[in-house]
Amino acid sequence: TSISAADLETLELLGQGNGGKVYKVRHKQTSSTYALKLVSNHSDHTVRCNLSREIEILRCTDSSHIVRCEAFFEQPLGDIKILMEFMDSGSLETLLKDNGTFSEAKLAHVARQVLSGLNYLHTHNIAHRDIKPANILVNSNMEVKIADFGISKIMSLTSEGACSSPVGTFAYMSPERFNKENCGGTYSGYASDIWSFGLTIMELYVGRYPLLPPGQSPDWPSLMLAICFGEPPSLPEGASQEFKSFIEACLQKEVGKRWTAGQLLKHPFLSDVGF
Ligand code: ATP
Ligand code: MG
Repeated sequence: TSISAADLETLELLGQGNGGKVYKVRHKQTSSTYALKLVSNHSDHTVRCNLSREIEILRCTDSSHIVRCEAFFEQPLGDIKILMEFMDSGSLETLLKDNGTFSEAKLAHVARQVLSGLNYLHTHNIAHRDIKPANILVNSNMEVKIADFGISKIMSLTSEGACSSPVGTFAYMSPERFNKENCGGTYSGYASDIWSFGLTIMELYVGRYPLLPPGQSPDWPSLMLAICFGEPPSLPEGASQEFKSFIEACLQKEVGKRWTAGQLLKHPFLSDVGF
């Protein structure tokens, strides 16, 4: 069952981020398709740290809501490749761009799966730390899975300084984490994931990043004002009471009032999904 890198034929570029390039590949013998994440300049200390963390997490996670890893390849020239299951419908970011906003019923379906993945991670002491539409993948079986563990943290193993803790996208950062990254202090990685998740679900409903007015560029000062001093965003009039209350439970600025993944899985918004 072991797949070697030489048996893989590159088909197309699927995506590109800070961490590396992701290609769609075909296994020559079986014709199965996979996604192959390639990180080449890993002589860089931070990139190498992120990658080894990502591999460590993917190796030890086993959940139907976390993208599955098939193999890891380390090339002589220092390239590292991660072979993953291919999610053929792309990310929530590309689905939003291509198909427009999501209905409440669809979002309940998406939310339940992402929360199952987050609940799995959080009960295994892992904070994802980069939850956003581009890092949640979908396949044509309507399965939704969390991907991209490049900056995740295994909370129990954390010792500040071993690998300097990398910073994700500011836009989806919780108020308490934004403060910590910029002013020092502590925050809960788990509660922060829930904030990012709430923003992500809201973005899929309203069709744009919810914390800034349309057209406003997401520069650092605008984000800082919106995240740290603004009221949490709320859903437009047309949304159901259950949906409004669900988003409110995620977007509590006070960590103590924010719901956990386990609590949210029992929220009425998720209880009567038409799938
Ligand atoms: P960033 O740092 O910008 O978040 P990254 O370099 O860390 O990106 P990923 O988020 O893992 O890399 O992947 C980048 C993109 O590649 C995703 O947004 C998605 O569009 C695509 N992609 C990644 N993994 C898969 C997969 N298993 N199946 C299908 N597409 C994928
Ligand atoms: Mg990504």
